[in-house]
Amino acid sequence: LAIGVFRSIDRLGHRLVVVLKGFPCSWGKCVFCPFYLEQSSNLREVLETDAEIVERARQALREWGCDRVTVFNGGSFFELPLAVINALRAITRGRVVDIETRPEFLTLENALHALRLLEARELVVRVGLEVVNEEIRNRVLNKGIPQSEVMRLAELRKRIDELGLPIKIVAYVLFGIEGVPEEEVIRSVEEFNRLFHGVIAIRYRRYLPHHPRESSVSIELAQYLERNTMLVDWGEGEEWSIGEGSSSPEAS
Ligand code: SF4
Repeated sequence: LAIGVFRSIDRLGHRLVVVLKGFPCSWGKCVFCPFYLEQSSNLREVLETDAEIVERARQALREWGCDRVTVFNGGSFFELPLAVINALRAITRGRVVDIETRPEFLTLENALHALRLLEARELVVRVGLEVVNEEIRNRVLNKGIPQSEVMRLAELRKRIDELGLPIKIVAYVLFGIEGVPEEEVIRSVEEFNRLFHGVIAIRYRRYLPHHPRESSVSIELAQYLERNTMLVDWGEGEEWSIGEGSSSPEAS
């Protein structure tokens, strides 16, 4: 994702999309991952870049007044420095806040901690499960996510609902990538809709020559996804221009 601040108006509402510089993902092995292009293992660089992005986000919010803030760091939110998370509060307080994480960082305690630190009205935790078929997920996409983690998160979702907490767990499903047949995409949406609070479908885009090829998407699948997911992200927003420098909000 391009580092910076973007505005998005879609089925999730009027959102501010904030793409931070993160540390390299601790897994870092998914076959399609382009995010390491934007990450840094230099703490000073991460802190300085993110302080500047949060400041731009504050200005943009003053102008745009979005009710929802989506925070990306090209890896897991829980791998961000705490100083960055504390700074985010200025833009997340009282709002619906989306974050992303790998499953192994997500526990009830961590989710509650994030909710409190961000002072969010609701926390939406997006997890890149991509496909319910374990063989495809781990052999083809190399996600490194055993089925036991999917089931643990499903139990966590139940616990969150029992407690009536303002936390949602949403699964990403990747489509339009070679090696994931359309019937597996549909099965994933059905299963993840049952296990979690919802699904966001992401159209795969190939960024690097060694990445898998894109596959065509049938009209039937596109219509199915539009009907059965919270959002279909076709990868066309400006935040998806990875490795092409940062964008500024119109406000700054
Ligand atoms: S978990 Fe996400 S950030 Fe980490 S390697 Fe996979 S796609 Fe990339």
